[in-house]
Amino acid sequence: AVKAGKRGTFRFYDRQMSEGLAERRQLEGDLRRAIERGELELHYQPSVDLKTGEIAGFEALARWRHPVRGNVPPSLFISIAEECGLIHPIGEWSLTEACRQAATWPGQLKIAVNLSPVQFSGPDLVGMVRGVLERTGLPAHRLELEITEQMLLDSGEATLAILRDLKALGLQVAMDDFGTGYSSLNYLRSFPFDRIKVDRSFVTGLGSGAQNTAIVRAVIDIARVLGMRTTAEGIETADQHRVLALLGCDEVQGYLFSRPVPAEEARALIGRWCAEDRRAKTLAA
Ligand code: C2E
Ligand code: MG
Ligand code: MG
Ligand code: MG
Repeated sequence: AVKAGKRGTFRFYDRQMSEGLAERRQLEGDLRRAIERGELELHYQPSVDLKTGEIAGFEALARWRHPVRGNVPPSLFISIAEECGLIHPIGEWSLTEACRQAATWPGQLKIAVNLSPVQFSGPDLVGMVRGVLERTGLPAHRLELEITEQMLLDSGEATLAILRDLKALGLQVAMDDFGTGYSSLNYLRSFPFDRIKVDRSFVTGLGSGAQNTAIVRAVIDIARVLGMRTTAEGIETADQHRVLALLGCDEVQGYLFSRPVPAEEARALIGRWCAEDRRAKTLAA
């Protein structure tokens, strides 16, 4: 009976697994056609300068509206794309699209684009980025590439060399989701990041518990000493905003200011924001 039970249990997991795999394989096929069919789109979420209250730039976030399933979350389709290599064409598409948009924005607004660790093992990432900057005409200093700590897990010399070559193009490099990895502090020694993005999980706890505030304060202090700028992710409340201003965080991003929105809305947001009384959004003032 024990044996049968075990086998039954195994079969149960096995079936779930193959259903999951079948679903992923189907999505993979759909994803292959999604770019050509224009189902992929970028949304843009503003990042706000805490001192001036002005929009400092936007982060591009990929969206997939599947014709049958509706919106597929990036956490799912990006991981499928990473598994099957589609992240390379998708990564180039999103970078091109984001830079093309940003090149039409007024002033010095910057654009942040997420890079997948898999893109570092693909063919000529640096050449791809350089080509996109040339084709879109976006000045390199207005582009910021976001990478997660996951990428640095096996940060061999090869990865670090690519990062250095990317920076040599004149763009900025940010460490995304800081604090969620196993060795966050260690990575700060391996590469001169321009920015640290404090993960939303720490921001959520701000104000509720001294530990969270102490951790965020420490991260902001370390960043300052290392000459890196800080962005706090996922600000949803005015309380979190206030605490981050007190702690001296440079930029804030979150639903409190805006959700990620389509390109036209981002453009409208830029216009509206500039027209409004800036002081209303300036806590430091
Ligand atoms: P991320 O780069 O850390 O992006 C921040 C995520 O937090 C986004 O989720 C954003 O919509 C969400 N967010 C922003 N503000 C708030 C808030 O106040 N509250 C809450 N609850 N969430 C907030 P999204 O768009 O679902 O993207 C998830 C992840 O997928 C991104 O995390 C990024 O790692 C990845 N991703 C998205 N687009 C791309 C892409 O074009 N290329 C690559 N390689 N990865 C991407
Ligand atoms: Mg990001
Ligand atoms: Mg993040
Ligand atoms: Mg994230």
